[in-house]
Amino acid sequence: MDEGRSCGDCSLCCKLLGVEAIDKPAGSWCGHFHRGRGCSVYETRPAACATFNCLWLSSPGLDERWLPDRSHLVLFTEQDGRRLTVVVDPSDPLAWRREPFYSRIKAMSQRAADGYELLISTGDRRAVVFPDQDIDLGLVDPSHKIISGYADRDGARVPFAMVLSDVADATVIPGP
Ligand code: SF4
Ligand code: SF4
Repeated sequence: MDEGRSCGDCSLCCKLLGVEAIDKPAGSWCGHFHRGRGCSVYETRPAACATFNCLWLSSPGLDERWLPDRSHLVLFTEQDGRRLTVVVDPSDPLAWRREPFYSRIKAMSQRAADGYELLISTGDRRAVVFPDQDIDLGLVDPSHKIISGYADRDGARVPFAMVLSDVADATVIPGP
């Protein structure tokens, strides 16, 4: 974590992220959160809460405009760093399309060429961002797996994103 940064008054992850241990759904405020007082179970909060650090805390390159409760975006990595997830506050679903955020998100998606994924998560809606296009997957059951990358089509590399509920039931959304 960047030593100069702390959560301060921000608490957006207590709204946007799901916490399985306490059956807290993603996208709505945790019942333990009280504005002005914070987490009422702080000393015994779930490990998932205690260990969570969004990228803003550790990334000096994300300036104050990216502060989650200001940008309405919570960024974190998962899948051993292979996926960057941008969780968007459902009450401001176009926040990620505004500047300076969108240009930076597109720049970060350049790593798709190396097998990394940049996922936009807004409530149950998912989209995968590539440098030259965004693939909207629509509403996705959170238990279903998303994979994405590039495929060869007629000699060209085209991006694709896919929702897997199981192998026999795959929804493939190719790029144009
Ligand atoms: S979103 Fe980030 S800065 Fe805000 S409370 Fe959570 S970990 Fe802290
Ligand atoms: S238990 Fe506490 S830290 Fe965890 S989501 Fe709820 S309010 Fe936030």
